[in-house]
Amino acid sequence: MTNVFLGIGGNLGDRRESMRSAVAALRQIIDDVRVSSLYESAAWGVTDQPAFLNAVVRGRTTMKPLELLDATQAIENNLGRVREQHWGPRLIDIDILLYGLAVIDEPRLQIPHPYLTQRGFVLRPLADLAAGLTLPDGSLVGELLTTVDQSDLKRIEGPSWTG
Ligand code: ADP
Ligand code: MG
Repeated sequence: MTNVFLGIGGNLGDRRESMRSAVAALRQIIDDVRVSSLYESAAWGVTDQPAFLNAVVRGRTTMKPLELLDATQAIENNLGRVREQHWGPRLIDIDILLYGLAVIDEPRLQIPHPYLTQRGFVLRPLADLAAGLTLPDGSLVGELLTTVDQSDLKRIEGPSWTG
């Protein structure tokens, strides 16, 4: 079994419902799921769009990294399809942040997730679950958190938000 951390986010439709559905679906494919608090963050880059909800999910799996990516992409597609009739932005984004201490650099999959150490909306919920966690490069989640901007980040609900 490998410890994995997944980042989930969404900014369209009923965001909270999409986030809850994503966690429910993740519980079907990974074991011992734990969920961070729920955060809201102003949209990045293109600021002319609704704010995002963000959270991090921790779990354990026997799936290989690419199998896990296939499974999480299937969840993204399923959630997008039931809520939107036609193609468009997915309602939910699931990123594999960490897969144990593995370092992976393949066309389809980079782990640790490339933006992990730069984004408050990832580091803050990750720190909820594992502030003392050391990344493959030796950096500490709790310390990285002090280096990123959190001014646009709001904790809107504690870890029981999944109901
Ligand atoms: P983004 O998450 O950057 O907003 P997408 O969710 O559309 O964009 O992802 C684009 C591609 O990123 C996916 O098709 C996937 O192959 C790739 N990818 C690379 N590394 C990862 C990772 N750690 N987790 C999830 N997707 C990843
Ligand atoms: Mg993604």
